Amino acid sequence: SAKAAGRDQLATFDRNLREQRRATAATVERLRGAVARDELLVHYQPLVRLADEHLVGVEALIRWQPAGQQMIPPDQFIPSAEDSGLIVPIGAWVLRRSCEVVSEWHRRHGAVVSVNVSPRQLREPDFATQVLDALKASALPPAALILEITEGVLVNSGVVTEQAIRHLTTLREQGVRVAVDDFGTGYSSLAYLRDLPIDHIKIDKSFMPAPGTPDPAARTMVKAIIDLASGLELGTIAEGVETREQVELLRELGCERAQGYYFARPLPEAEAAELLARAGRSAHV
Ligand code: C2E
Ligand code: MG
Ligand code: MG
Ligand code: MG
Repeated sequence: SAKAAGRDQLATFDRNLREQRRATAATVERLRGAVARDELLVHYQPLVRLADEHLVGVEALIRWQPAGQQMIPPDQFIPSAEDSGLIVPIGAWVLRRSCEVVSEWHRRHGAVVSVNVSPRQLREPDFATQVLDALKASALPPAALILEITEGVLVNSGVVTEQAIRHLTTLREQGVRVAVDDFGTGYSSLAYLRDLPIDHIKIDKSFMPAPGTPDPAARTMVKAIIDLASGLELGTIAEGVETREQVELLRELGCERAQGYYFARPLPEAEAAELLARAGRSAHV
């Protein structure tokens, strides 16, 4: 009967939910010791200036490599890390590690580093202090650090989150830059772009025109975002750039920087160092 089918569906739903919770709990348990066990690492994706296609820096992207297992991408553990609060020590580690690594690349090649910060980290009362300590310890100049936040960090259900604003204001006074990541995928009002302490917009990869088609709608949206950003004197970074056509379009529309598989994938530290050294000589990626 329909009633029995409904009951079955509900039972399946319950079971799936229980399994999901168990899987999440297991992930959190394994993740708990990951820093101590040295299982976390950072990959670096090149960031390119579109005017001349010089490599200007890298985005730090976390990876989890449990001993004897496949590498686990962030989408599979960052949500659990956020829910459990583990993102706080993990995020602090990413920040220290990437400042330390890029400090040398900054001295040699003038590279900057962009680090993702989760909303949970910005709720910590000592977040700004943590960042300034990481900079001091690594001797990376504040102006060589970009913090990537998402719209939700600054505005949550229409309410501006004061603690996050205070941290970012303090850090910007010291020269640190702030970028809004995945721009256009959240639900915030546009007013925050004018009012909040940010420097750059990262255009989400979902806005890139589909390869091999004119895709006028995507083009219109990318142009609108770039025009809006430049009108507000915010920098623009396109992410998910995979084709030459997209590079040409972005340059034509006045986008400043880009990253994506067209230029390079996120690379292990040694390979990123090599690429920077080579790019330093040839001035191209
Ligand atoms: P994100 O910050 O928006 O990073 C960009 C993602 O797009 C990366 O995925 C990158 O590998 C991928 N990507 C780069 N170029 C292309 C391209 O041309 N095409 C496509 N399809 N994808 C491209 P990844 O490394 O798997 O990271 C996923 C997300 O995990 C990040 O998105 C970020 O939100 C989060 N994440 C990564 N590292 C950290 C971290 O240290 N802390 C926090 N809180 N979140 C992190
Ligand atoms: Mg990012
Ligand atoms: Mg992004
Ligand atoms: Mg993204």
